[in-house]
Amino acid sequence: MAVSSFAANPLAPDWLSVPDDANALVSGLWSRTVSRDAGELTVGGVRSSELVAHYGTPLYVVDEADVRARAAETRSAFVDAFERIGSAAKVYYAGKAFLSIEVARWMTEAGLNVDVCSGGELAVALAAGVDPMNLGFHGNNKSLAEIDRAVSVGIGAIIIDSAQEIERVAAAAERHGRVQRVRLRVNSGVHAHTHAFLATAHEDQKFGIALADATDAVAAIRQHPALDFLGLHCHIGSQIFGADGFAESAARLLAVHKRLLVGGHVPELNLGGGFGVAYTAADDPSPIRELASRIAETVAAACADLDIPVPVVAFEPGRSIIGTAGLTLYTAGTSKDVRVAYQDDGETAVRRYVSVDGGMSDNARTALYGADYSVRIANRVTDAPPALVRVAGKHCESGDIVVDADYLPADVAPGDVLAVAATGAYCWSLASNYNHVGRPAVVAVRDGSSRVIVRGETEADLLARDAAYVPSAAAEPATAYPATEQPTDGEGAQA
Ligand code: PLP
Repeated sequence: MAVSSFAANPLAPDWLSVPDDANALVSGLWSRTVSRDAGELTVGGVRSSELVAHYGTPLYVVDEADVRARAAETRSAFVDAFERIGSAAKVYYAGKAFLSIEVARWMTEAGLNVDVCSGGELAVALAAGVDPMNLGFHGNNKSLAEIDRAVSVGIGAIIIDSAQEIERVAAAAERHGRVQRVRLRVNSGVHAHTHAFLATAHEDQKFGIALADATDAVAAIRQHPALDFLGLHCHIGSQIFGADGFAESAARLLAVHKRLLVGGHVPELNLGGGFGVAYTAADDPSPIRELASRIAETVAAACADLDIPVPVVAFEPGRSIIGTAGLTLYTAGTSKDVRVAYQDDGETAVRRYVSVDGGMSDNARTALYGADYSVRIANRVTDAPPALVRVAGKHCESGDIVVDADYLPADVAPGDVLAVAATGAYCWSLASNYNHVGRPAVVAVRDGSSRVIVRGETEADLLARDAAYVPSAAAEPATAYPATEQPTDGEGAQA
């Protein structure tokens, strides 16, 4: 990477280099249709100023063409790779990353199945018209009602997560006179994150059952004529950049898969999701096509060693399909230059806190996982030198940070629109009403037009669930969230 002509702020993390141009939209971090037009950030052919004027901020923006393209590319990457080794692949979109009716439809139109992990996600997928046979249902503590509903609608597969669940799913299947297809979630002992993976014999976590117990669990499943065992399932982690963790996990699972073949058919293996995306310029995830090929080759080699046929292999990516295709627009409010000691001798440097009109209620990942993000001024470009900033939210929590560290032009000012990259996954889906802040709208952009796919919450929405609330003319809330001016016409109005 070229060395910048600007000095680094000593408070900046090691991975963050000083850009020569703090307006530049680093490729790979932003959705594919993001560019600058006359200095202004545009996405899906729509200017950010137009989005802000119409919908206010904070605002989640989803690049529809990009989501659809990544979904189709992911599917073909896995299908092609497994076809090359004489087998087949299935791709489930992991709805937990972001699920709405429209997005579920984009996925099915791209030929993907959908993976849900609660009754609510199941309801969204069904409302979208997804064929229940193309759904998988996860969860370590599915309620009896959730299991019953999933079985009754004819769900394609239930991923059994415990010994108790075998009996619960079997009972539901018998009640409905169905044969329910099931997978068994196991812990392969492989944990992966970013580029490293750790392989252990035992896992200390709530999901699935130990690989060593899989044979007994599958025998228990096979005792129920109302259950049809599809195969093992394992999800090794998230934000994984390479194929090594998947390869190790697949090898461990296939050894057990071979033993299970003795007692009956095992047509599939599910290796879960977890493919990473770039949140900062320091992130370098492998392209999905490369990962798919490497995983398929490893599966082929392991099956050849074990002398078993290659099963159909299923995957459940979420973040890698929708993460980069989303961004969040905020309006900058107050800013403060805070002098911070960075050395024992008391040497200090200045960190600029720029506060925005959202925060941990619309993006919990920074507070929850210490996630890193990248930010740019969306409404203009400027020649000002880069300054280290921390983008903070408006919540009553000092950990309410959206972007821990990035460089923005030093003249960033109240009223500027800030765009945070790669917020498509696990932001809206993890959003809360902390401090009684309404969750922002989600707007899809495509070919120069925009539309609301999930409306934002208003004060009226927030008050409506308060059992003691008595609507009256005097108490009628005047302000809708986002707090910036709302359109009064029908389309796109959030109030
Ligand atoms: N499958 C399972 C079982 C998961 O738990 C998750 C995420 O937690 C996923 C798939 C999706 O992971 P990602 O969005 O990182 O691809």
